[in-house]
Amino acid sequence: MYKDILKELSTEYERKRDRQIYEQRMRKENVYKKIPAIRRIDEDIFKAGLSMSKYIIGNPDKYMEAVEEAKGTIEKLKMEKAYLLTESNIPVDYMDIKYECNTCNDTGYLDSGSQCNCLRQALVSRAYKMSNIENSLEAENFKTFNINVFSSEPFGNENMTPRENMQDIVSIAEGFISNFNENNGDNLLFYGTTGLGKTFLCSCIAKSLLDKNKIVIYQTAFTILEIIEGHRFKRDTKANDYEYNSLFDADLLIIDDLGTEVSNTFTNAEIFNIVNTRIIGGKKTIISTNLTPKEISEIYTDRIFSRILDKFIPLKFYGPDLRWE
Ligand SMILES: [Zn+2]
Repeated sequence: MYKDILKELSTEYERKRDRQIYEQRMRKENVYKKIPAIRRIDEDIFKAGLSMSKYIIGNPDKYMEAVEEAKGTIEKLKMEKAYLLTESNIPVDYMDIKYECNTCNDTGYLDSGSQCNCLRQALVSRAYKMSNIENSLEAENFKTFNINVFSSEPFGNENMTPRENMQDIVSIAEGFISNFNENNGDNLLFYGTTGLGKTFLCSCIAKSLLDKNKIVIYQTAFTILEIIEGHRFKRDTKANDYEYNSLFDADLLIIDDLGTEVSNTFTNAEIFNIVNTRIIGGKKTIISTNLTPKEISEIYTDRIFSRILDKFIPLKFYGPDLRWE
């Protein structure tokens, strides 16, 4: 899967660059038509560059002086050109190639050979598209969030009505998003029975952060375990490495439905390892579960886990089931 996505994206990046170059050529032609002197300047710049290269090849021992001179000539020509452009109200960079990403010049890679953030993000979005989460992100975001579906009647022994509680949770979620770049150790634990908007709120947060170019991985605990096991048994290596590493590397990891997976000591240890590594690395995680913190500690008896859970802000979802309304 990873290979296919990467191949598809490389083709798209190539096309993007071709288009960029084509558009630059069009803009150049426009300028040349309007200000013919600039065409001559460009030709002179090209010639100066060419004769400089020739000189370097012909005089490998003593070219420094000539290079300095050529550089001076080119600089002067560029200034002349900038002056002519400004005079005609054309931005000085109008004839440059306009890259969508100035970090990698739309190659997708940095000089070091590692992937640029824009490519990482594209890979993730593509992965999202394939897992169908993008569709739910369209429907579930803060814009479509309606606080009025939550009951304003007292509920059980709770101090706040479900609506007041939800207003509280939403403002904490909004704070989480706006302070996302701060290394404040914020992690969220959403708990409560199904049908109370936990998944919806996770989608809202995912959407807001994706819009800020964050890499968000949103998976159920069940799928995460499949990825971990695939990694352990080396199935479909490359794709799985990518998925597995993204659990550690993503800016935000949302683990949905913790506690429904069939867990064993190995997989539990692995999930906690992921969350713990993220905490140590200052990366944030949201866990959503139908279990209460007490039930969680009964299932995951590991002491490490209770220590990890201390790093999460527990937010309880309660009220009448919304799915029937
Ligand atoms: Zn880039």
